[in-house]
Amino acid sequence: MRLVFIGPPGAGKGTQAAKIVDRYRIAHLSTGDMLRAARDAKTPVGLKADEFMSRGELVPDEVIIEIIRERLQSPDCGDGYLLDGFPRTLGQAEALDAMLAASGTPLDVVLELRVPEEELFQRLSRRGRADDKPEVIRQRLVAYRNQTEPLLNYYRNKDLLRSVEGVGTVEEIFERLVKVLDSVCKS
Ligand code: AMP
Repeated sequence: MRLVFIGPPGAGKGTQAAKIVDRYRIAHLSTGDMLRAARDAKTPVGLKADEFMSRGELVPDEVIIEIIRERLQSPDCGDGYLLDGFPRTLGQAEALDAMLAASGTPLDVVLELRVPEEELFQRLSRRGRADDKPEVIRQRLVAYRNQTEPLLNYYRNKDLLRSVEGVGTVEEIFERLVKVLDSVCKS
């Protein structure tokens, strides 16, 4: 199964992504984790990315697209994968489509985790990551609204989008996601 997982910062996407990849035995590709690892290792890409991440802005498309292009060629992606935090712009989504069309391996589903914005801000303020300062949080929510939300229509038009409410306990939300994914697997 090849899936894209979309949701605003603070929606609990990382927690649910970990549970999904465990259950369906697919690779977990988190661009946020990849960029944080590159930043901590002080690679040129990591240092460049950090300029954007520390402001709550998106890293330029060409940087992230190349990272994903390489990562998708790893053998562990052969049995499927969950893309967590990518694509985040229309340009990234189109680049992904082109890559997957070239290899004849289209996406099976795009999952959206929906959480009201007031709740996101509260959840992020409690989390305490370096990019969880109030002005950075605000900027990350703005980036989501302006740059990532348009993807929902893009995937809706391709009949790939399935939306799930991200409010409730971790287990309740996971059950909703599993219901959708099981129906996609069977179809
Ligand atoms: P995340 O952990 O997914 O919230 O990502 C943390 C930060 O990494 C984001 O605020 C962006 O600065 C950067 N980032 C992660 N994924 C992407 C992406 N697909 N495109 C651009 N920037 C990204």
